[in-house]
Amino acid sequence: MKVPPDLISFFRNSDDFFIATHINPDGDALGSSLALALALGAAGKTAVVYSRDPVPEYYSYLPGCQTILHSFQGIQTASMHLCLLDCNSLKRSGMEDVSFKTSCVIDHHETENNFGQVRWVEPHAAATGILIFSLLRESGITITKEIALNLYTAIVVDTGAFRYSNTSAEVLRASAELVDAGADPAFVANSLFEMWSERRFALLIMALNTLEIRDSVAFINVSSRMFHETGTGPADTENFPSFPRIMQSIKVSVFLRQIENSKWKVSLRSKGDINVTGVAALFEGGGHKNAAGCTIEGDLKTAKETLFKAIKQIALKDPDSGKN
Ligand code: 5GP
Ligand code: MN
Repeated sequence: MKVPPDLISFFRNSDDFFIATHINPDGDALGSSLALALALGAAGKTAVVYSRDPVPEYYSYLPGCQTILHSFQGIQTASMHLCLLDCNSLKRSGMEDVSFKTSCVIDHHETENNFGQVRWVEPHAAATGILIFSLLRESGITITKEIALNLYTAIVVDTGAFRYSNTSAEVLRASAELVDAGADPAFVANSLFEMWSERRFALLIMALNTLEIRDSVAFINVSSRMFHETGTGPADTENFPSFPRIMQSIKVSVFLRQIENSKWKVSLRSKGDINVTGVAALFEGGGHKNAAGCTIEGDLKTAKETLFKAIKQIALKDPDSGKN
């Protein structure tokens, strides 16, 4: 990946960085942010990492994650330089009304606005972690074991553990270098995939029990009642959206997570050339071709019906989908 020269200058000519990422952070969001903060620290710069939402328990092994801030207390953002990672709008980071001295964006989502004085958005990059890896290499910064563990996790999470179509030779080469630098693949796989709490597993069983299949579209959901009954929270649902896609006949998988009485966070997953970004965009969301998200209002039945129609029309391009 070619790093834009103005991004190198952005980091070289400034100090006092505020690194932030999207709400409900995943492994790419957290790993990229922590790796950048560690690298800036090693280069003698000051950097803090902010996440509006808590760090899910299964990411607590990421080096530096205890230092992540969840409030602006004692922070003068107006005199700091924002580095917005793995998203490209202040809204996605939950910081709509916060101002910064200058800002840069490093992201791999489709561009949805032009926020940021310096922007590096590569929709074809498998993970933001790959971009941070390229940035560190280009800047001549040593990749320590701690940085490697963060970046390797970022890549594992966004490639579905090297299963998705974004797993290229470049991704595998970068990963191999990170393993050389000290990231332990078995440790990461164990931490991410074999450390579930029994509560989380109970929630998955409940979610799978809601399965509804319409044509080649599968729906599952998690309600506030299920969270309450199992003693779990939103972070426990990471990867739930992908489960129904395991079925050969399923082209699109839809996961709805209740936010309020009549409000649902929607996660869409698709296979191959089926693009669900347009469906998410219809509801002011976004994402990638095979993984996108948005928020939808209404009762569960109506929300599913609305999404089904949109998926048929936009993602599956069904010529009959407009008819009733
Ligand atoms: P997930 O379904 O796991 O929450 O997200 C899948 C992908 O879509 C991620 O790349 C995530 O950043 C993106 N995404 C999820 N929800 C939203 C949303 O409301 N707005 C935008 N712009 N992107 C989203
Ligand atoms: Mn990402």
